[in-house]
Amino acid sequence: MRRIDLKKAQAARLNTIRDINRQIVLNYVREREPISRAEIARETDLQRSTISTIVDELETDGLIEEFGEGESTGGRRPTLLRLRTAGPIGIGVAVTPTLTTVATSDLAGRVLKQDDFVADQDPEKTFGRVVECVKELLSGTNGSIEAIGVSLPGLVDPETGTAIYVPYFKWRDLAVAEMISSRTGLPVIVDNDANSVALAELWFGRPEVSNARDFILVLVAEGVGTGIVFDGQIYRGKRGAAGEFGHMIIGTHAPVACSCGNRDCWEAFSSERAAIARYQRLCRNASAPSFDFRALVDRALGGEPHAVRALIDTALCLGVGISNLIVGFSPEAVVVGGEIARAWSLVEKALTETIEHSVRRGLPSARILPSTLGEQPTLRGALSLVLASKFGATVAA
Ligand SMILES: [Zn+2]
Repeated sequence: MRRIDLKKAQAARLNTIRDINRQIVLNYVREREPISRAEIARETDLQRSTISTIVDELETDGLIEEFGEGESTGGRRPTLLRLRTAGPIGIGVAVTPTLTTVATSDLAGRVLKQDDFVADQDPEKTFGRVVECVKELLSGTNGSIEAIGVSLPGLVDPETGTAIYVPYFKWRDLAVAEMISSRTGLPVIVDNDANSVALAELWFGRPEVSNARDFILVLVAEGVGTGIVFDGQIYRGKRGAAGEFGHMIIGTHAPVACSCGNRDCWEAFSSERAAIARYQRLCRNASAPSFDFRALVDRALGGEPHAVRALIDTALCLGVGISNLIVGFSPEAVVVGGEIARAWSLVEKALTETIEHSVRRGLPSARILPSTLGEQPTLRGALSLVLASKFGATVAA
């Protein structure tokens, strides 16, 4: 299989031309809405008549809709097109160690309805509850939901929809797609959390990211994950196992144990858990119960010195790993996602310091940017698994 990048595609000259042109038009409407047929023609070099036929089809299929009139450039005012926003089209399931969220979204990726609960170690209980939530969401949708995207905090084989290993819950070889699909009758797409968020950045991120050919998404949560985008595609490696940089060794005696049990992994120095451990050590209060990272960020933003210090020390370690990734991959950008992005004003300097050291040695640099996906990056990621399959296409070579 060869993938064709439709975000940058010119009008294709293949026998699958019809499908490809359809995706090109759909993507122009998605990225530039409101846009007229004439503008699409100017941008794509497709024939006006081809565009009109495709637009009719996309309207009939409920993907786009007409929306008012634009400025006249001499003749009749052009009719503008936009994505059809009414109604849910996909369901996203974001499983995280703290909270599992199940939500519907429209074609533009906006969350419409959501429900959340704390996942259980017992996968039957967790996915039984996911199925209940999905059925509840489906009951009000008149069959408009086309697929379910699931993001998991661990190693996933997206081809088979299997969780190979999810360390936090100790799930091994769990047929997640099958468990949900057999009970809901819907297709299920499963991927690792960092890959899902990288996909969300690719489709819904800021233009510097979504237009980049190569970027790396670093997801800081209970653990640290990376999603690698090469040439506008997620790089997955064999059985989807690429990007496990959370376990690269960056030191010794980390503040917490990594999810793999060791104390020398990047994750053990740079995760939310590491930041909390540093803070508790600074406050000499290692037993503060149910203290979460969100509260730590709030305290740091409020100016509490120990909280600021804990975040900066964590960002310095995060920067070491990011610097290694930049030296190795030379991406255009590195995007940092997770709650830590909210404290960007506090951590940016610490993050960039190490990277500037590398640059001084003549090694490649890259822009480091906070994610703009908002409060629920993994949910946006799970939803992107469904939406990207509508906007992109896999074309047999
Ligand atoms: Zn590890």
